[in-house]
Amino acid sequence: MLEISNLFSKDAREVKPSPIREILKVISQPNIISLAGGIPNPETFPKKEDILKTIDENYDKNWLQYGKTPGVDELREKIGKEFGKRKEEVMIFSGSQQALYISSLAFIEKGEAIVTESPTYLAALQAFRTRKPRIIGVEMEEDGINVDSLEGILRKTKIKFLYTIPNFQNPSGITMSLEKRKRLIELAEEYKFLIIEDDPYGKLRYSGKDIPSIRKLDDENYTLYLGTFSKTFAPGTRIGYVVGNEKALRTFDRIKQPIDLCTETFGQYLILSYFDRIPENIEKTKKLYKKKRDIMLDSLEDYMPEGISWTKPDGGMFIWVKTNVDTERMFKYAIKNGVAYVPGKTFYPNEDDVNHLRLNFTFVEDEKIKEGIRRLARTIKEFK
Ligand code: PMP
Repeated sequence: MLEISNLFSKDAREVKPSPIREILKVISQPNIISLAGGIPNPETFPKKEDILKTIDENYDKNWLQYGKTPGVDELREKIGKEFGKRKEEVMIFSGSQQALYISSLAFIEKGEAIVTESPTYLAALQAFRTRKPRIIGVEMEEDGINVDSLEGILRKTKIKFLYTIPNFQNPSGITMSLEKRKRLIELAEEYKFLIIEDDPYGKLRYSGKDIPSIRKLDDENYTLYLGTFSKTFAPGTRIGYVVGNEKALRTFDRIKQPIDLCTETFGQYLILSYFDRIPENIEKTKKLYKKKRDIMLDSLEDYMPEGISWTKPDGGMFIWVKTNVDTERMFKYAIKNGVAYVPGKTFYPNEDDVNHLRLNFTFVEDEKIKEGIRRLARTIKEFK
């Protein structure tokens, strides 16, 4: 009998399942209120009739045909306009996740150093880890990454890139200040590294004032900006994009060809046919999510015991809670009490913190947010 695992490559054997997916499996029972997911609320998706009506009229059969590897020109042009860039400086990917993976293929060699925020987006860590870099985590402050610690590292270590999620970060909800964005660009210039700016949530702001992206502040082209339509249109279409250095994008094009030839044209034309209405959809989404964020923040205030703190994000999908317990060990107990969250440990590049947990406020119904926080507070109080 063939034992297929004997044939796997070393790389394939080393790929670990995402801890979040493992958690999602446990929590699908109906009596559990899951604050663990990180997915958009389907109420925010455009109506089927609105998107399908125009696509065939306007784009004929193109939407069923193969497309160019860097993406549909008209979509690249429209995205570029927002940044004052030409279509050659914009490339479409199968979700920004693919852009993260292709960035790691393009830039990382085994053992080379990169910097991420600590904590940071788990699936970015997974993409980077496939190339076996040395990942240096830099702690987060209330206004974003600690730039002084970063500079200390840069003085001693040559890094390839810094990965940041400046707006309403996943998992912490933290937003980087304008001063720090500018400082990062100065550091990139001085120490010659690339900034990978991942911004899936930037358009979902519910309070405070917009801060320009690092990409927009950066005249010297040190920044690759990763965007996505997953949170402003729908994630099922898998359309993300990169705005930045043309030379880098030409290399990305060559790397992408053997992976998927092109990003699905269907999704690109769906978005094109709906493009002018996306701002309207964003307004609707913001209204829904703002209410849910406020309910969660109020419930935390009402129910959490002394000594527990949390972030108050101005947008996005997540709140980051600092507890005084090991949130991974507490997880089973929380499930017994009918509530789920994501233990914070997995978001740290070096998995050195066990006290945090991530809550999502965009998915569950309003009443369930309140009840979920009540159950979580009880769990924290009871768990020893
Ligand atoms: N970056 C971050 C920070 C995210 O939270 C997500 C989605 N969870 C992604 C990238 C991936 O988004 P996409 O659907 O465009 O692949």
